[in-house]
Amino acid sequence: MPELPEVESVRVGVHEWTAGATITGAEVLDPRILGTTSQRRIDAAAADGFITAVNGRRIIAAERRGKFMWLTLAETPAMGTVGTDAPGEQRARRAAEIETPELSLIVHLGMSGQLRVHEVGDEIHRHTRAILRLERDRPDADQPRETYELRFVDQRIFGHLGVQPLVHASGRLVPASANHIAADPLEAAFEPGLTITALANKRTALKSALLDQTLISGIGNIYADEALFRAGVHPLATPARTRKSRLAAVLDSAARVMGDALAVGGTSFDALYVNVNGESGYFDRALLVYGRSGQECVRCGTEIAKMTIGGRGSHFCPNCQKPPRYR
Ligand SMILES: [Zn+2]
Repeated sequence: MPELPEVESVRVGVHEWTAGATITGAEVLDPRILGTTSQRRIDAAAADGFITAVNGRRIIAAERRGKFMWLTLAETPAMGTVGTDAPGEQRARRAAEIETPELSLIVHLGMSGQLRVHEVGDEIHRHTRAILRLERDRPDADQPRETYELRFVDQRIFGHLGVQPLVHASGRLVPASANHIAADPLEAAFEPGLTITALANKRTALKSALLDQTLISGIGNIYADEALFRAGVHPLATPARTRKSRLAAVLDSAARVMGDALAVGGTSFDALYVNVNGESGYFDRALLVYGRSGQECVRCGTEIAKMTIGGRGSHFCPNCQKPPRYR
């Protein structure tokens, strides 16, 4: 699965192409995309429900918590309340001020999903599952509004689209099905103090606790190993018996290593193409322990070890990350 930095770089691209646009039409070519991986049999009415729910809405922003991405939608403000005489940019800003987030359009890319921006009338790729027709003002108000399509292409249908109400959870509005997902270390709503307190109650292996999305979201297997190594904490340490300053150091390292990955560039996409692949290849060179079992530790030269914790391969340096003494 893509890690948080990949999802964030996709979010940035999606935001650029969708924020401020109005959905003027929608088409579901394959209703299975509205289901989940465990539930692909879709009621024939579901596609109509989806189309009705999104049609005419304005996209406020592309948002993310952990690896969960969505578009926040608002009612389209009546042009009279915004002032049709104002220049386009000013009009868009006024519209943004009066709109309230009302609904979320969840976009799970899964392993094979892609969002592509197309001109209306472009040939439709055979794995296209849904199409949103979008319209937005151009920076120059004298130009006619820009009309284009956002197409969801997914060969294997591991991705998912859906409409959900927004609920308050861990400091902000999120889609209802994300209400159990804790804040991630890179978002403004993240409160390290609260997360450390929650972690400190756990008696599972610290490595497993870092992957528990109800405690802290967005840290995948790669970044959990990297964060533990950088903080010098063993993956089998019991959070409840680990000093809070050490837990804080691990969270800090997680935020830093994911921030670094974002800065390196993230998944690349050209102007008309937003894409995510499952692997984080661009960051491989910067990984210090993940995938390096049997190789020398970059700090002390000891052979990097690998063990399975909670079903996940875990890489660590037996010297830099001393086993917990209470075991
Ligand atoms: Zn070492």
